[in-house]
Amino acid sequence: MARASARLVRNAPGDFYVDDSCIDCAMCRLLAPAVFRRDDGVGLSVVGRQPRADGERLRASMALVSCPTSSIGTADKGFARAAAHALPDPVEEGVFFCGYASEKSYGASSYLVVRDGGNVLVDSPRAAAPLMDRIGELGGVRFMFLSHKDDVADHAKYAARFGCDRIMHGDDGAARLGVEHVLEGHAEVRLGVDLVAIPLPGHTRGSMALLYRDRFLFTGDHVWGEDDGTLEASRSVAWYSWAKQAESMARLLDYTFEWVLPGHGSPLRADSPQQMRAKVEALVDRMRDGRRA
Ligand code: SF4
Repeated sequence: MARASARLVRNAPGDFYVDDSCIDCAMCRLLAPAVFRRDDGVGLSVVGRQPRADGERLRASMALVSCPTSSIGTADKGFARAAAHALPDPVEEGVFFCGYASEKSYGASSYLVVRDGGNVLVDSPRAAAPLMDRIGELGGVRFMFLSHKDDVADHAKYAARFGCDRIMHGDDGAARLGVEHVLEGHAEVRLGVDLVAIPLPGHTRGSMALLYRDRFLFTGDHVWGEDDGTLEASRSVAWYSWAKQAESMARLLDYTFEWVLPGHGSPLRADSPQQMRAKVEALVDRMRDGRRA
């Protein structure tokens, strides 16, 4: 529970606040960007302005329940119950943003895909009862796609609750985790008519992306969106190999998609597959000529 006594001084005055236990995961800023902002001075999130209407109070309360470290507090409990049951949050076409981040995955984002061939949970949210119940109402989980070893969090609890088959690359220790479908090698693996697993070594040795309907690319920590509309990757978090990650980025030019839905960082939607391709090409060029730190 957040502590009012540890409230960051840069919070806007009012009911909602962030305390000094924030780990700067950005989950609150993704769910309620009108309320939360990053304070570059302290390198943490703060309340930039208090919510002004019921919709913003609900979004701020969704951020509160999703914060992995319980760093958000409020005296305004009016939307607490509604917020707990408002997740997962629709994105587009049966794709949902789960919220309920886990500290075990440093507050990473996870996603639910509701589809005819069986729902897919992409990476693991926290095993919070309201979220698991809501996922059950949406049809449960048939497959759990684990993009890489850092974002597995409560995978075992989801597998136990829903009896789903987990899918992960062997190079990230999938066998040790008890994963049912261990993928090997670097060739793409078609998991269904609308699903393709794409090995993308770099951030970790066994990192993978999941392509859904040639439209949505779930990228783990391989690549993410920035506020200026560009795609980004960083050498500072290339735990395995930055050179391999650059090669993997170029490989994405073989695929068509409009959305990038990452584990960390912002989702990014392009206006067209062509526009997304141009963004990937620009990042590939920057990585190849070393302009990315
Ligand atoms: S969700 Fe919580 S830990 Fe993450 S940035 Fe916001 S306040 Fe900090």
